[in-house]
Amino acid sequence: MNNEINLKDIDLAGFEEKVYVIADEVLDILKELSRENNNQISSKQIAEKMFRKEAVKSALIPDISEPAAGEIESLKDIANIVLDKFTELVPPHMSDNFCNLKDGFKINGPNTSTEWLDSPISIIKKYINSLSARNSEVEAFMKQTMQYLEAIEEPLSKELSFHQNKIKTDRTFEDDLFRYMKTMRDDCNTFNDINALKTAFLGKIENIGRGFEQKREQDMLRLQETEKTLEEMGKRMHDIKREADEIRKKSQEAEFEAYHDALTGLYNRRAYQDRMNETLANLQRYRVPASLMICDIDFFKKINDAHGHNVGDLALKKLAELLVERLRKNDIITRYGGEEFAVILTHTDLAGAIIAGEGLRSYIAKAVFSYKGLPIPLTISVGISSFNKDDTPEAVFERADHALYLAKKSGRNRIMSETDLIKENVLSNNVS
Ligand code: GH3
Ligand code: MG
Ligand code: MG
Repeated sequence: MNNEINLKDIDLAGFEEKVYVIADEVLDILKELSRENNNQISSKQIAEKMFRKEAVKSALIPDISEPAAGEIESLKDIANIVLDKFTELVPPHMSDNFCNLKDGFKINGPNTSTEWLDSPISIIKKYINSLSARNSEVEAFMKQTMQYLEAIEEPLSKELSFHQNKIKTDRTFEDDLFRYMKTMRDDCNTFNDINALKTAFLGKIENIGRGFEQKREQDMLRLQETEKTLEEMGKRMHDIKREADEIRKKSQEAEFEAYHDALTGLYNRRAYQDRMNETLANLQRYRVPASLMICDIDFFKKINDAHGHNVGDLALKKLAELLVERLRKNDIITRYGGEEFAVILTHTDLAGAIIAGEGLRSYIAKAVFSYKGLPIPLTISVGISSFNKDDTPEAVFERADHALYLAKKSGRNRIMSETDLIKENVLSNNVS
């Protein structure tokens, strides 16, 4: 098993705390608003309050108390980027929520300057609450989201400050312009000499021109910085996405290892238990017939003793291949242990399973297993039982195992079923 995913390293608690802190802030605001008046509370009111909260405060210039309309508009693009990235990161069954949210934003734009943040977080909170058990994949996702939030916090704050500054300097520039225009109008009234008026006007027009030039330079500078910030955000998101993909891949590998046998690649004993329970439930609920086949290699110890353990392993691999080749796709082939393989045949009654068992036995007996050009005999004995309505997995196994014992006792390289057990019992009862 790959131990690289260390769940202890995942800062799940940190992430949860962050989500709950933000959610609590929204709750506080709601309480505050409901104390202030009993009328309906609008999302705009919440956003305005949120704007003054610690979580977003650092991004704001303290002396501007109201979020400007233009600033909310410019956040629309950022909100869309954020939601796009969230949508890429969340597990598939959650991405619908984000897509709906994003479609809503596309049509209306986010109503408030904080909706981009609190809406995705409230979805994640809902998701956390909906989980009764946390598996490793979910924990890995939490870690990713946490990193993602941390990574975008700083550039986003920077971006918000830029917007705020820009609005401020634009206002100052406009004020200056208005002041100039007013003095020019006053000049018209005070100057009698047309030449003096011309000189004063030209000087002021020149100043206005310089002002425009300066503003353009500043705007260009800001544009460059915005582009740099967005590029930086893009890079971080790309890294996080790649890491999320790796975690997803590793958790899939871990899931595979948990249910498969390393030597043969077949299902393991754990998978056998699960599938036996499922098969029995399907029989009890939907009357789907099923049978069990236990295959045991004949004189396997001799192969190990004569050719070594490695050749024994090769024989096990070869047998696994033959089982997969000969049996049906929906037959559940498991390595029960050692040189014993259990096959659950769904939709198959005892008569069908006997035909399948005999077909398999002769297929394996005819196949050639050789090592260094030397053929090594490889045969199996098979015990077969079929599931009854009132069975337990243990009882089904026990009947097949007894039949297998009978097959071994009767000379090996043969199949026996639970009906042969009854015959054997009758026979032995008659003898005694
Ligand atoms: P029988 O026909 O009665 O089944 O005889 P057998 O020799 O196959 O049965 P027995 O139970 O006496 O021996 C099974 C052997 O399988 C003993 C054990 O060392 C070997 N074995 C179990 N697991 C592995 C494995 O993973 N690799 C190898 N090479 N041998 C294994
Ligand atoms: Mg055995
Ligand atoms: Mg054996």
